[in-house]
Amino acid sequence: AKGAGKGRWRRYQSDLHTAVLERLELRAALDQAVKDHQFVLQYQPIVDLETGVPLGFEALVRWNHPTRGMIAPGHFIEVAEESGLIVPMGRMVLQQALSTAGRWQRSTAQGALRYMSVNVSARQFRTPGFVEEVRQMLHTSGVEPGTLLLEITESLLLRNDDQVRADLDALRAMGIRLAIDDFGTGYSSLSYLQHMPIDVLKIDKSFIDDMLSSTQQRAVVTAIVQLAQTFNLSVVAEGVEEAGQREALQEIGCPYGQGYLFARPLSEPDAFALIPKTAPF
Ligand code: C2E
Ligand code: CA
Ligand code: CA
Ligand code: CA
Repeated sequence: AKGAGKGRWRRYQSDLHTAVLERLELRAALDQAVKDHQFVLQYQPIVDLETGVPLGFEALVRWNHPTRGMIAPGHFIEVAEESGLIVPMGRMVLQQALSTAGRWQRSTAQGALRYMSVNVSARQFRTPGFVEEVRQMLHTSGVEPGTLLLEITESLLLRNDDQVRADLDALRAMGIRLAIDDFGTGYSSLSYLQHMPIDVLKIDKSFIDDMLSSTQQRAVVTAIVQLAQTFNLSVVAEGVEEAGQREALQEIGCPYGQGYLFARPLSEPDAFALIPKTAPF
């Protein structure tokens, strides 16, 4: 038994060793990825649940590794965050998303692309100069500030940080809109909804997943939609995969959705093809 225990310990140590090594390798490879601009974006439509028409898109980063191919963000965002590489990576993402939005807007009818949504990590947001950078990028891309929707997380709002508050206000004053991503998963007191300059709530996929089988989860979704209405916010359901979920969301009064039922994240040309060529109103 003792021998077996020892074997387990060795195996554990070597697994740990491998894990540490892998993390270091990943970090080094990510460093190179930033230097070589190996990040590409895919775009997933956010649709009007009534009509299915895309109103905007969320830009989602992928790492196009020279030998390993496309890598999903779940494999590298955490290490990017820890190492700080999320800051230059996020800058490239924002730049690329805005340049795409500018190109799309110049080749479609006015109002056909209402917004481009971009994820911003808390660390990226807190980097001094972030607001100025966004202002510069908007200027360079020629994209109207009202077209840009920044997706932030509840954790950024939790600490009640004066600098964060000032930056959110500055972005809002520029005309940029702000969404809370993965809404409902944080430890929010919800009181911040009263005084924070937020425009959109994105209901986390986990609630949508179970809303047909669990009356409790459905009640949570209903409560979030009502909360949004009370605070005059827009609301988007994430991870809509089934027609039944879409119907339930419409019954509840949720106006917008995103998910595989409508489209997966798409390449730039495939996403562009989905934009209505005349304004949908
Ligand atoms: P998120 O912001 O919650 O993005 C939605 C994720 O759900 C995306 O995964 C999307 O592909 C996936 N998804 C959308 N609809 C469905 C559906 O119907 N079913 C299922 N199973 N999944 C669906 P993805 O692209 O792998 O991104 C994962 C996470 O990585 C994102 O979650 C976001 O937190 C982060 N991320 C992605 N791009 C960026 C970025 O540019 N910057 C930062 N900071 N984070 C990013
Ligand atoms: Ca998001
Ligand atoms: Ca989300
Ligand atoms: Ca999510």
